[in-house]
Amino acid sequence: MAIAGDKLTFGNGGAFMQDTRREVEQYLARGRTRLRGSLLLFAKAPVAIGLTIASWAVLVFVRPGAAGAVLCLAGLVLGALLTAFCVQHDANHGAYFRRRRYNHLLGWTADALLGFSSYAWRVKHNIAHHTYTNIDGFDDDARQVPLARFAPSQAPRPWYRFQHLYIWPMYTLMGLRLQIVGDLAAFARGTVGESALRVPRGWNLAGVIVGKCIFFTWAIVIPLLVYPWWVVVGAYLGFAMITSLVMATTFQLAHCVEEAAFTSAEEACATRPVWAVHEVESTVDFCPRNPLLTWALGGLNFQIEHHLFPHLPHTHYPRVAEIVRRNCAKHGIRYSSQPSLRAALRSHFLHLRAMGRLGIPPEIEMG
Ligand SMILES: [Zn+2]
Repeated sequence: MAIAGDKLTFGNGGAFMQDTRREVEQYLARGRTRLRGSLLLFAKAPVAIGLTIASWAVLVFVRPGAAGAVLCLAGLVLGALLTAFCVQHDANHGAYFRRRRYNHLLGWTADALLGFSSYAWRVKHNIAHHTYTNIDGFDDDARQVPLARFAPSQAPRPWYRFQHLYIWPMYTLMGLRLQIVGDLAAFARGTVGESALRVPRGWNLAGVIVGKCIFFTWAIVIPLLVYPWWVVVGAYLGFAMITSLVMATTFQLAHCVEEAAFTSAEEACATRPVWAVHEVESTVDFCPRNPLLTWALGGLNFQIEHHLFPHLPHTHYPRVAEIVRRNCAKHGIRYSSQPSLRAALRSHFLHLRAMGRLGIPPEIEMG
C-alpha cells in the first residue's frame, strides 16, 4: 500500500499492519461479531436523530416553561453531539452500510442537523486529517484555529503564550464559523491543507444547498415564528457554541496532546514514514475503560484504532484496541492511552502551553 499526496508518500504498513489486520479479521470472523457490531451501531442512529428532533419539536410546538426549555436545549445539544460522533462520522467514513450512497445519505445528517457540509467534511476529515495526521500543512486540523499554534513547526508569536487560556472560547466559535462561512470559504479556496476540494456539482451541490436551508430553517426561521428574536439568537448561539466546544475538545484530545507526535511537511517528505506507524504515534486514546464515554463519543476515545480501521463500525474498537496494543508492543511501536478524561485534558492544556512558549525569546517570555 502506498498513499500519495502532492509531494508526500508513505511507506506501506509493513509487518505491524499485516499482523494487526490479520488478527482483526480473525476477531471479526468469529460467530456473529460483525453483525452484532453493526446492530449496536444501527441502534444509535434513531436515538441520536430522534433525541434531536424530539427536543426541537417540544421546544417549538409545546413551548414549555423556562426549566422545560433548558431541558429541551440540553436534549438538543446531546442529540446533536450523538449525531456528530455516532452517526455522521461513521457514515461519512463508510462504516454504516456497504453502499456508498446510503452512507452519504446518512452522513448528510451533518448538513441538515449540524449545519456543516458532509461533502467538505469527507475531504477535510477523511482525506486531509486521516491520511496526513498531525503533518503540519497537510492535516488541516493542525491549523484549524486562528491565533493558535498546535505544532512545533509552526512559527512562534508572542501572544501564543496565552493560548492555553484563550483557546477554549475559540473552540466554541468553530461550529458557528463552519455553519455560516467555513464551508463556502473552503470551496472558494479549493483546497483543504494540500488536498483538493472541488466545488460540488449535481447531487453534491444540491446536498450542500438543501442541507444549509434545512439547518437554518429549523434552527432560526421556524423558532422566530414562535419566540422573540433575542430568545432565538441566544438559544442558537448556546446550542452552536456548546456543541462546538465539546466536538473540538474531543478531537483535540486524540491528537493535540503531549504524547502525540507532530511532523513538519519537509520532515515527512524526507523520511517517508510508514503510514500505520505514523498514525499510531500521532494519535492517543483516552478513557478506554469507560463504556459510557465510549458509547457517547462514538469510539472517538479509541482514535488509534479508528485511524487504522476507519471503515469499521466504532462499536468494535474496544476489542480491536487489545489487538493493536499487543501488536504495538510486539513491533516496538509507541502506543499511548490516557487512563482518564482529566489526564487527557491536562495533557492537551500542557501541550498548548508548551507550544505557546516554544521559541519565544526569554525577554518576551518573562515580560
Ligand atoms: Zn474519523
